[in-house]
Amino acid sequence: MALIELTDVVKTFPGPHGTTKIAVDGVSLSVERGDCLGVIGESGSGKSTLGRLLLRLYDVDSGSVVLDGQDISRLSKREMRRHRRHWQIVFQEPFASLNPRLTIGQIVEEPLIVAGDYGNRAARRERVIATLAEVGLPPEFLDRRPANLSGGQQQRVGIARALVTDPSIIVLDEPTASLDLTIRASVLRVLNRLREARGLTYVFISHDIETVRHFCSDVVVMHQGRFVEGGPALEVLDAPREEYTRNLMGAAMPPIPYQGRAADPDALDSVSGAS
Ligand code: ADP
Repeated sequence: MALIELTDVVKTFPGPHGTTKIAVDGVSLSVERGDCLGVIGESGSGKSTLGRLLLRLYDVDSGSVVLDGQDISRLSKREMRRHRRHWQIVFQEPFASLNPRLTIGQIVEEPLIVAGDYGNRAARRERVIATLAEVGLPPEFLDRRPANLSGGQQQRVGIARALVTDPSIIVLDEPTASLDLTIRASVLRVLNRLREARGLTYVFISHDIETVRHFCSDVVVMHQGRFVEGGPALEVLDAPREEYTRNLMGAAMPPIPYQGRAADPDALDSVSGAS
């Protein structure tokens, strides 16, 4: 069974004057363990809503979201809190998603406290230090605050916070969109290395087609809350079947030449233009 299974998922929001806005309109998909699914589409196509439905930050109107065999729409809030450690999210704006009043050590420790059973303070601190090291931040960062970090460092903290509970699935919602081009490549390399080392499964939401081409094993294209097409990333992006996808790719920035897939860290440099 796939690690992530969505079946006929619908999500609406109240619109103006008593209308209803359909953000996700009957989406079904499955993601195998260890894969990276890229979700691309124009702004407003439903990508972020889909990402939030995956972690039950929103409830579905209908349909089912099954993660690792668990239908998460049937879990109580308490059960969901218990499971949350397995399924995490990294947001687009690192600074906005980090509590400015807390130190980096406290921010990364927080999910361990919420989850409840990660030992005493010393054990948690050790785990926080080890996780920060995995994203390339030495222990000196423990007592700093988000405002004293660069954008790339802030996003590494966001990744460490998602990683600290040892999840199997991470939803990455435009994790590099707010970063400078040179920093983007280093953050993508960290994410790629972690996926391989930990066997993580990613859902990578992005409007940046070139990054998805390098970073993801598979891709789905969304338009107005629906799937246009999907499949292996190189197949879909090199030979789109649907006119919508061809137009979307034509409207994207001209591609930067690249030499390989995400397994080759240098390929990620070419995404950003970093040397
Ligand atoms: P994307 O991530 O592709 O830009 P979103 O998932 O953010 O798209 O939005 C899909 C649609 O749902 C948009 O029309 C958006 O305005 C609407 N939408 C998203 N979140 C909300 C919300 N919390 N309340 C009302 N409408 C929303």
